[in-house]
Amino acid sequence: MRLPPAEVIRRKRDGATLTEDELTGLVEGIVDGAVSEAQIAAFAMAVYFRGMTRAECAALTRAMTGTGSVLDWSAVGLTGPVLDKHSTGGVGDKVSLILAPVVAAAGGFVPMISGRGLGHTGGTLDKLASIPGYDTTPDLDRLRAAVRMAGCAIVGQTADLAPADGLVYAVRDVTATTDSVPLITASILSKKLAAGLHALVMDVKVGSGALLPSLEAATELAHGLLEVGGAAGLSMAALLTDMGQALGHDVGNTLEVGEAIDFLTGRRREPRLHTVTVALAGELLVLGRLARDHAAAEDAVARVLDSGAAAERFARMVAALGGPADLLEHPGRHLATAPVQRAVPPARKGIITAIDARALGLLLVELGGGRRRADDTIDVAVGLASVAGVGDAVGDDRPLAVIHARTAAAAAAAAAALRRAVTVGETAAGPTPPVLRRIHPAPAARGA
Ligand code: URA
Repeated sequence: MRLPPAEVIRRKRDGATLTEDELTGLVEGIVDGAVSEAQIAAFAMAVYFRGMTRAECAALTRAMTGTGSVLDWSAVGLTGPVLDKHSTGGVGDKVSLILAPVVAAAGGFVPMISGRGLGHTGGTLDKLASIPGYDTTPDLDRLRAAVRMAGCAIVGQTADLAPADGLVYAVRDVTATTDSVPLITASILSKKLAAGLHALVMDVKVGSGALLPSLEAATELAHGLLEVGGAAGLSMAALLTDMGQALGHDVGNTLEVGEAIDFLTGRRREPRLHTVTVALAGELLVLGRLARDHAAAEDAVARVLDSGAAAERFARMVAALGGPADLLEHPGRHLATAPVQRAVPPARKGIITAIDARALGLLLVELGGGRRRADDTIDVAVGLASVAGVGDAVGDDRPLAVIHARTAAAAAAAAAALRRAVTVGETAAGPTPPVLRRIHPAPAARGA
């Protein structure tokens, strides 16, 4: 018999360690509607303050995975390993849109189960939902067919895949409970285990725009992910990467799809975005035994980018999931643009010494490009383009960014927020490297 949800919440609130049965009962209740949104919020807040042991976190992950189907790719006849990468979330982070087709072109298969925006961080799913016709929640047959045809498919949780995570995630997004190590771990790994992967690389963000900004918290999260994932049989690696500024040129849903297309087709490749993407894709090719070492993996990534093979996989994925067949050739025909575009020069000329990347993410939410409530509709066209980075010289001839807004008033408010988020001085120490550290699995988790 299930313990009433309020009792489970009370036990966590009071610092108890929850049992597997208690967590399974609660998670089943979340999916069958017996647990209300208010109770999900209270549970998330109790976990936020009390934390969880690794064993509890593993039990929560199993319970969330078990609320839906676990994909079995063995019957689909794939000719390579099933691989994926997941980020803990950031601002301007469009790596998934590029990496999935890169890995597919290099011989892997990537069924990527992604989330919507969470708090100030953007969501891969919201970006893809900005492509007209793209089905972000296909049924399993369509997902399998897309993976077979394109080698990759980036989709959201459906009623079939880790549905508990979708429900908890939406509540966390709007209740200040995004930045909890056990909740992030269970959220990510439940989706990834449901996808039936062989290997997963984690991009754990560090810095002002990360869900967990400090190096210590990010390192703890990376270790937790490797341990819980390894114990569940996933072959894993984790990189800590810098989120002390936006990643790439643009922030916003259609803007980031446009930037990913430009990257894949070689029109523009922002160097930090390039470094992070190549490093993560390289880890995956090594984990999936598609490359013998990191140098060979990075060569393979360069080859599929330069030959256009990765771009072609992206186009196939979009078409297989219902999007326009000519998106790569004519992105401007399909991606919405905002009516007001305004370049924002800095208040004074100088060098950018620091950026509050979280403030940039919140600015996007204020423009309407993210959510304040779980049921908010987002404006996919708004955002920031050509965002200047740490160390860049800015002035009247080089703005901080170009704001894309729905109205002139929204653009003016965003311009003021942008100036507050960026510190301009005389000299900068130089930007933090985009890839900070590789976290190794503990011996017990290795090769699990
Ligand atoms: N990504 C997820 O899928 N879940 C989180 O909680 C954070 C990032």
